[in-house]
Amino acid sequence: MVTSCCVPECNQKGKKTSTGEKVSFFEFPRTPLRKTQWIHAIRREEGKQFKIVDGTKVCLLHFRREDIRKSFNGRAYVVAGGIPSRFAWSVHSPRKRKAPPKRHPLPPKKKLFTTTSTSSQAELVSETDAMVESVTQLTSTASNSKSNRNTDLLISNRDTDLEFNVQKKIEDMEQELLKLRQENTGLKKKLDELEKQHEVISARLFCLERFTSDADSNFYTGLPNYTTFLGLFNFLDPDEDGENIRSDAQMSAEDVVRTQQIASLRIHVERAINKIKNFRIWNGVVPLSLFSVVNQMWTFCAFLSNTQDPLISSIT
Ligand SMILES: [Zn+2]
Repeated sequence: MVTSCCVPECNQKGKKTSTGEKVSFFEFPRTPLRKTQWIHAIRREEGKQFKIVDGTKVCLLHFRREDIRKSFNGRAYVVAGGIPSRFAWSVHSPRKRKAPPKRHPLPPKKKLFTTTSTSSQAELVSETDAMVESVTQLTSTASNSKSNRNTDLLISNRDTDLEFNVQKKIEDMEQELLKLRQENTGLKKKLDELEKQHEVISARLFCLERFTSDADSNFYTGLPNYTTFLGLFNFLDPDEDGENIRSDAQMSAEDVVRTQQIASLRIHVERAINKIKNFRIWNGVVPLSLFSVVNQMWTFCAFLSNTQDPLISSIT
């Protein structure tokens, strides 16, 4: 029996074409999916009229060159995934229609409208989707120029829709930008205020940077000027908290308390002495003639000072 091709409108019978070229025949693939793909491709359906058996074959003429491989012994076979694609009906349209622009899903609509309107919009969109789908199906079954135009129209509609969306988005962003700018100016004002406050507070702070004048540094450190102080400071390199110049033999807690107590007592002694000194008799130089009684004078003044107000007021 002469092998024949099962593709409609194909008259290939036998292993050679009318021009004498060798033609191979291929059986349908065994895997159901690929088998279905082939049946779809040749535009037939399995039924009473058409049944795929071992002898049902598709000839070489329906395959693109890249779908066919040749084994070492010269036998042709279809590569994995190869599907017949060259048919009598496909030859009629040499110019392929341009592929439609890639469709992007619409961005989710902002809730500018009420929920009912958005749902109706969503319905509309799904409806258009369905329409586009049906139209594309129509065009695939029969290349009808009118339906083509319809798809184009629909596509242009979708374009304007997209444009509208983009414009809306831009407007939203502009508004947001304005808001952010206002916020920014507000924050800048606040920052200025805080900086001023910081300046005021830092002016009150007792720190090194405040006493840069020679008089101040002389007053607080006893050094002739600020440059000298800075030189000494850098030489000692005390680091933060002065840990670099802290003595190794640290005072014990007891010693610290004792030193503090002595210091506070010393202040009292100083004050008491001052009280005695405040008597007018000690203004100016004590004449040498009073040398013999100077001790009695001092003792007496001390005695008198005891009758004055106490050193520590009762409140403190
Ligand atoms: Zn054929």
